[in-house]
Amino acid sequence: MSEKVIIIGAGAAGIGAGLELQALGIPFVIIEASNRIGGRAYTDKTSLRSHWDQGCGWFHCADVNPLVHWADRLRSVYDRNDRSKNALFWVKNRWLDMAESASVHSSINDRFNTIYAVAKKGLDVPISDVPAKAGIGEAIAEEMVRLMCSDDTKYASAVGYGDYNDTEVNWAVTSGYGDLINRMATGLPIHTRTEVVSVEYHRGGVRVQTNSGQIDGRAAIVTASTNVLRSGKISFPSGPVQTLLDLVEDVPCGTYEKVALALKHYPLDPKDNEALWVHQHSRESPIYFQIIHGNQPMMIAHISGDQARGLIAAGPQEMADFAIQKLKNIFGSHVQDLICGTAVTGWQTNPLIQGGYSYARTGAGQNRRKMITLDTGVITFAGEAFSLPWYGTAHGAYESGKCAASRLQVLLNLKPAS
Ligand SMILES: Cc1cc2nc3c(=O)[nH]c(=O)nc-3n(C[C@H](O)[C@H](O)[C@H](O)COP(=O)(O)OP(=O)(O)OC[C@H]3O[C@@H](n4cnc5c(N)ncnc54)[C@H](O)[C@@H]3O)c2cc1C
Repeated sequence: MSEKVIIIGAGAAGIGAGLELQALGIPFVIIEASNRIGGRAYTDKTSLRSHWDQGCGWFHCADVNPLVHWADRLRSVYDRNDRSKNALFWVKNRWLDMAESASVHSSINDRFNTIYAVAKKGLDVPISDVPAKAGIGEAIAEEMVRLMCSDDTKYASAVGYGDYNDTEVNWAVTSGYGDLINRMATGLPIHTRTEVVSVEYHRGGVRVQTNSGQIDGRAAIVTASTNVLRSGKISFPSGPVQTLLDLVEDVPCGTYEKVALALKHYPLDPKDNEALWVHQHSRESPIYFQIIHGNQPMMIAHISGDQARGLIAAGPQEMADFAIQKLKNIFGSHVQDLICGTAVTGWQTNPLIQGGYSYARTGAGQNRRKMITLDTGVITFAGEAFSLPWYGTAHGAYESGKCAASRLQVLLNLKPAS
């Protein structure tokens, strides 16, 4: 039997697992279906004149984020000032003043505190049922939570949300988060354009079938997104793995997409602000624009949940038009002349990802804990959905991959290659 560990997927989790096995001296190979590595960590360097992150872009929990050390080692550029809370607010046809803006920030803080308080009580209720403070910031606070869940709050469990251990320090990775994850993988044995179709137990180890042949190994670490697992694209044996897949069914990835608008110049002086929130009418959801400072001005709309699914169904042009229209409502139709490039993401429609990131559904708020603790033997799982304190993030995915690798080493008493 081959002593190799077979890692399925070269996103942050697969790369974390590979780096850990490399450090332990255990042979492994990473199998990636796409023609590129990184998965949801993807710095797009070709669609627009300057690069932008289609997926992860911030070091969340930056003060304790293990990937910051990698960034220092590999000389990635990131902004140690947490500007994520520096925001402009356009609400019902006017700019909010400082006092009103402070009130919106306080609504956002209050919203998260209340959700965590409900989670602490172990209440498996929809987040939308957690009472919110009425006021000028109510809808924006709800939209913020929706982005954090990558889905509408009516679907997500409050107790499940509460597992996330947020230090509330966020640093933008200006040279590209996807670029960093890519460079971390330099020298790892990764086979791209190789799609895994099944994983089975075989002679005390595993057999992995791909679109270009089979590979036998001692164990497998599967890192595909929960929506890919739920889709049945990869077949697995019965037993504990099927129990795990049943739990995964209620920890889906929501929908989270971005529309990037490259600008000749900003429609207003953004000063030190990193965000523009627009909430024109109470019947509409607010929209969040990330303001990218740099040589090439850029604004990126972040859209999630049912709204994002509706726009995806309408098509990429409609998605871009939706974001542009929001800016026209504020700055007038001439804003169109400032736009020198548009690009949209397609995470939901990408068959190898199929969504944003994971959340636990109402009624299944404990599923993530169960998934992480379930012993599935030599077919083991990692990925953002398998991190308890940092689910939904790139560093959580990376840590989960490292954990899966070191667990296997202990479980199987794997020895370094001589
Ligand atoms: C729009 C958006 C914004 C985000 N913003 C942030 C942020 O600012 N900060 C942050 O920390 N996180 C953010 N995230 C989340 C973060 O990007 C993800 O949590 C993380 O990158 C997931 O890594 P992963 O390895 O678990 O999964 P993935 O990145 O999905 O990797 C899985 C890999 O498996 C491959 N694969 C799938 N099926 C097969 C198969 N059958 N055979 C072989 N390979 C297969 C896929 O191609 C993929 O490369 C964001 C995500 C999105 C979508």
